[in-house]
Amino acid sequence: MSDTSTNNRETMGFQTEVKQLLHLMIHSLYSNREIFLRELISNASDACDKLRFEALHNAALFENDSELKISVDYDKGARTLTISDNGIGMSREEVISNLGTIAKSGTREFFSKLSGDQQKDANLIGQFGVGFYSAFIVADRVTVLTRRAGEKTDQGVRWESEGAGEFSIEMTEKQDRGTQITLHLREEQDDLLSGSRLRGIIHKYSDHIVQPVVMKKEEWKEGGQEKLDEDETVNQAVAIWARAKNEINDDEYKAFYKHVGHDFEDPLTWVHARVEGRQEYAQLLYVPGRAPFDMWDREAMHGVKLYVRRVFIMDDAAQLMPHYLRFIRGVVDSSNLPLNVSREILQESKDIEAIRAGCTKKVLGMLEDLAKNDTEKYSKFWKEFGKVLKEGVGEDFANKEKIAGLLRIASTHADTDAQVVSLADYIGRMKDGQDKIYYITADTFNAAKNSPHLEVFRKKGIEVLLLTDRVDEWVVSNLAEFQGKKLVSVAKGGLDLGSLEDETEKKEQAREADDFKELTDKIKTSLQDKVKEVRVTHRLTDSPACLVADEHDMNANLARLLKASGQSVPMSQPILEINPRHPVVMRLKYEEQKFDEWTAVLFDQALLAEGGQLDDPASFVKRINQLMLEMSGK
Ligand code: ADP
Repeated sequence: MSDTSTNNRETMGFQTEVKQLLHLMIHSLYSNREIFLRELISNASDACDKLRFEALHNAALFENDSELKISVDYDKGARTLTISDNGIGMSREEVISNLGTIAKSGTREFFSKLSGDQQKDANLIGQFGVGFYSAFIVADRVTVLTRRAGEKTDQGVRWESEGAGEFSIEMTEKQDRGTQITLHLREEQDDLLSGSRLRGIIHKYSDHIVQPVVMKKEEWKEGGQEKLDEDETVNQAVAIWARAKNEINDDEYKAFYKHVGHDFEDPLTWVHARVEGRQEYAQLLYVPGRAPFDMWDREAMHGVKLYVRRVFIMDDAAQLMPHYLRFIRGVVDSSNLPLNVSREILQESKDIEAIRAGCTKKVLGMLEDLAKNDTEKYSKFWKEFGKVLKEGVGEDFANKEKIAGLLRIASTHADTDAQVVSLADYIGRMKDGQDKIYYITADTFNAAKNSPHLEVFRKKGIEVLLLTDRVDEWVVSNLAEFQGKKLVSVAKGGLDLGSLEDETEKKEQAREADDFKELTDKIKTSLQDKVKEVRVTHRLTDSPACLVADEHDMNANLARLLKASGQSVPMSQPILEINPRHPVVMRLKYEEQKFDEWTAVLFDQALLAEGGQLDDPASFVKRINQLMLEMSGK
């Protein structure tokens, strides 16, 4: 930041991310240019909410003017639009940080990840949140005049910028508290200099804003519209969540979502209800159409807005939603909570717990409905938020079965990697005599789908769920069963297919185990500590060998995940299982000279097939080449 001040005027540079955002915004959002007004009115409304809240503790902040409102005006001669509010206002420091930087964490990564084409995609920029800077879509110069409530009138701040690299800031007089934003319109924006045009935009986007949005009354006189010195309210100015459901149409719900969710796109779905009883509250909760870019950012703010009897209390009240529903946006308005509730109180409040439980139930119910009645929308939901919802299986004991019912999983039943199978679908398709839900976890879909562990299941036509999201290990370690059916990993423990195998098969297996006892012992001696045990399996049809984890050991996929995240993992040796019907294994019975070489290859390929990493890849390659040479008779 540079300083070119004479008296108290300073010129400062925007943070790099702001410059990028400004550039992208002007170019990608031009076809939606009217949204600038929605964004500025939305900010003004938030500022009024904040003032009302702070004034609960300090009524002097009202400065004898407690009628909060937002005014919109235009000046044809000067070609300007003005949006003003008597909300909280900003101090000089606040102006610099709010209108000179982007505080959201993850911003830099977000911008650096956008490709050239994506930068032109309005929806991606919208996902980031458009906000104040959208003023520059229609204006080539923006002047902000603001004074924080409760400060002296000489503590006004004037901010101005042409939306390129820098802005100026100076202290100035301002009589009324709050913020006034003047847009000096670009060429060809003259259509906005019209009362009816502006009224139309306000109706379309800002009808739901709780404070009145006022404009000067206009009268038709000879020569055109003429403004009178009298205000009229343009919007409905009632809290949408307090209105009756049957009086609200979808467009109104969607418009409110864009305000409360700071989103540019429509929500996917929503639920609106009033809860009566010991805790009384209204809830209007939305599922966004798209995952916010910072959903995985631990520091990102999440949650819904809390109101108490229409008074805004706080943004991002994380306590109102469990962590695994952090993508939900909206409003909870309590009738019982005290107005002086703070974040600290929220953390311990039993009332909040009750509200959170109620909201969670509502959201899960809404998702169940969606899954049942609108598969297409539900699969969109699942794509965006499935991975987050899965966390709930381990996080929310009370709703575990419900959340498990909402899971969608890839499966050997389908040919694609699409996660479309529910546990209930699976159970509905189980074979006669099948009493378990079989699954495999792996790093990638292909690793799961082609795993040797699936061979016998494929042969018998038994469906196996393919779990390949990182969070899946957490899911299965917390979900022992669903609807009374155990979940069983096909890569763990001894394979017991129960009555899915007949007596002859079982006898045959026992005979083979005996037959190969000498060989398995010999392999164990050769591999030593690399394996816990070597045994014959009937899991395999095409592969000679595979590795499995012992019943109570950590499976290899989980061990790798934990290691990759830097945790120390207890070493557990795998069990090597060999396929007695495979020609390589049958040959091995009679191999003397190269026995150790062959066994080493057998082990290494089993490790590779299940997605593991070789300890000594170069030796493996050497052995394979040797075998190839021998095969070709050299
Ligand atoms: P967002 O609203 O998503 O935080 P914006 O870029 O729109 O992002 O605004 C940045 C910040 O500037 C707001 O969070 C708020 O603190 C402040 N701000 C914007 N407009 C006003 C206003 N009219 N009155 C007071 N503060 C405002």
